[in-house]
Amino acid sequence: MTSSNSFDPYEIRKDFPILSRTNRGKPLVYLDNAATSQKPKSVINAISHYYESSNSNVHRGVYELAEDAENLYRNSRQKIAHWLGVSAEEIIFTRGATEGINLIAHSFAKHNINKGDLIILSEMEHHANIVPWQMIAKSKGANIQVVPVLNDGSLDREKLSEFLATPNTSILSLCYISNVLGTINPIKDIIEEAHQYGVKVVIDGAQAVPHMQIDLHNLDCDFFVFSGHKLFAPMGIGVVYAKNELMDEMLPYQGGGDMIDQVSFDGTTYAKGAQRFEAGTPNVCGAIGLGEAIDYLNGIEFSQVDAHEKKLLKETREGLKDIVGLVEHGITAEKAGVFSFTIKGIHPHDLSTLLDAEGIATRTGHHCCQPLMKKLGVEATARASYSMYNTLEDVNIFTDAVKRAVQILG
Ligand code: PMP
Repeated sequence: MTSSNSFDPYEIRKDFPILSRTNRGKPLVYLDNAATSQKPKSVINAISHYYESSNSNVHRGVYELAEDAENLYRNSRQKIAHWLGVSAEEIIFTRGATEGINLIAHSFAKHNINKGDLIILSEMEHHANIVPWQMIAKSKGANIQVVPVLNDGSLDREKLSEFLATPNTSILSLCYISNVLGTINPIKDIIEEAHQYGVKVVIDGAQAVPHMQIDLHNLDCDFFVFSGHKLFAPMGIGVVYAKNELMDEMLPYQGGGDMIDQVSFDGTTYAKGAQRFEAGTPNVCGAIGLGEAIDYLNGIEFSQVDAHEKKLLKETREGLKDIVGLVEHGITAEKAGVFSFTIKGIHPHDLSTLLDAEGIATRTGHHCCQPLMKKLGVEATARASYSMYNTLEDVNIFTDAVKRAVQILG
């Protein structure tokens, strides 16, 4: 692992075994990090070590093995809470960001939204931060207002302010970073503004966690969700942070084992705190993997990751600047290492297929953001998304391959 004062993507790469495999016979150039990140050896080891030596169901096991699993699981929750700057009681484990937003919508919003209330979303949201709200709005007779995205990929703050000031606005649910545009929304400022009107704020942190240190105490949002798999941890584990006082107002939307206090056919009482929202056998191994990923990240300075990703973006723009008809979607100054683009006359799928033949993994499509695609006036974009282990060499391979592909397809 790299030490905090000597950020070196080549050193980091050594920790990620998959990066030395090939793709279609060429060295893999993995540029699909917004879809999922690769996993360091320490996380992979923690998972196999767990199954080799500590696997047991958690909760109520009285034997040593079960205690080991329980301790590892509990420690992970604590590590995650500490890393986010909150308390372990405020961390609910889920399958991922999608399940997290559904949980907030069904366990909190459903009981706190009235007919005619407004839920504010934005045009840059992932379907995971649209559809659950549509379900709740429909069932409660609430309305959704959508904050437009401006030409540079930033939010229309004037419209947002107007919506926040509307008396029956109840919830704002917003991504921290757009998975298509890379836009980093000024959420600290927005949260403060929303709170002046008593509006509760949900932050979809799915794309933010791998790019920046999150301090939830400082941000003061009411809810925050993310998926472990975008943060160098396994798939199938995610987190909802809910402020302590709000958790008390939430009702479970899934019932089953482990979320109860007492069960009888006359009625059931629920467990207290986060446990109330974690019905059934949890993803113990996933949680342990996520804790391990956080240990790994503790050796990495995020300001250096940010500077590195900015260099990669700059190099990408430089490498592609002579392509006629290329549009980069999202050009805000505050932007993460996400480069979505279209080239006039070339279908993004054709482009990505040619890139794949050269070993380069990019993603094309609507990226689960169909409303945003509509706004951009495209059906799909190609997207290269960077992580701390990508190098300038990766970028050059990518931009050279795009230029060759344009000659073939153009
Ligand atoms: N929000 C954003 C901004 C995302 O990029 C994603 C994943 N692409 C999600 C939510 C959903 O994450 P998951 O599929 O891991 O639940």
